[in-house]
Amino acid sequence: MDINITKKQIADAAQTAYDYAKGVTGGANANYIPFLANIDPQLFGLSVMLPDGTAVNLGDTDYRFGIESVSKVPTAILAMRQSSPKAVLEQIGADATGLPFNSIFAILLENDHPSTPLVNAGAISACSMIEPKGDSDAKWTAIVDNITELCGSAPQLIDELYKSESATNFNNRAIAWLLKNYNRIYDDPAMSLDLYTRQCSLGITSAQLAAMAATIAAGGVNPLTGKRVFDRGIAPKITTLIATVGFYQNTGDWLYTSGIPAKSGVGGGVLGVLPGVLGIAAFAPPLDSAGNSVRAQAAVKKFMETLGLGVMNGDRVTITE
Ligand code: GLN
Repeated sequence: MDINITKKQIADAAQTAYDYAKGVTGGANANYIPFLANIDPQLFGLSVMLPDGTAVNLGDTDYRFGIESVSKVPTAILAMRQSSPKAVLEQIGADATGLPFNSIFAILLENDHPSTPLVNAGAISACSMIEPKGDSDAKWTAIVDNITELCGSAPQLIDELYKSESATNFNNRAIAWLLKNYNRIYDDPAMSLDLYTRQCSLGITSAQLAAMAATIAAGGVNPLTGKRVFDRGIAPKITTLIATVGFYQNTGDWLYTSGIPAKSGVGGGVLGVLPGVLGIAAFAPPLDSAGNSVRAQAAVKKFMETLGLGVMNGDRVTITE
């Protein structure tokens, strides 16, 4: 079916979703990273961006929160830009684990590859793939520059979060060395882990994440800068990864009920991509048991439902003034 939606309808649906989700309670801040446990649980922001740069921002959309696992998306894109989608498939994989993001069991079960760059193991592998190999500073610059290009503005390291996470990331240290054991890390393991931890500690706003999402939805052209950030062919690959594992063991339920591929982070962020149509991001710290923001999920779901949109609906969507 052909569906036409006006920009006003999008703004109204965002307001409806924001008002609804503001009243949704439940969940708890991540507490295994001490810094995150202390973030104000009432913070809440919802941002939408269209491929032409039109933006809707409601609530705390300028607040810089820890990007955490949403950072796995841009770094997977960077690995595809520098190598190729095929190289990422071969060296990391594109399969959902069906298990929690930090699962060690998943690595043991799939001992021929870490399965996907959107869980911890695959994300550490993705950091190891980043060029130039062996040069931590240059790799870090490449990771941050890529995020800046995707958002159209720079993220900022939250130093306290980086320290907090580095001091407590014992499980991830085990993952890095296990990957080394299986020859699935392509640079120094300790350096790759540190880059992963640092990228998770970047502060980002929901407005920035919506721009990143819109860049993916627009096939690689950033709506704010007009710059082509990545080849068109990368967009369906990254969106596939997001659709299959973005919410870890809850991904199927999420896609089934929301109709939008989305990626979460334990900082409370969610980034959603409706290919060709729009990018959306929401942020609220309290998480469900899988580590996905309760209020952000409620907001994105309500937005999709209000507009009657869904990636699997088979509709041709156009947006007009
Ligand atoms: N830095 C966090 C970790 O590795 C990210 C997890 C997440 O956001 N799901 O545990």
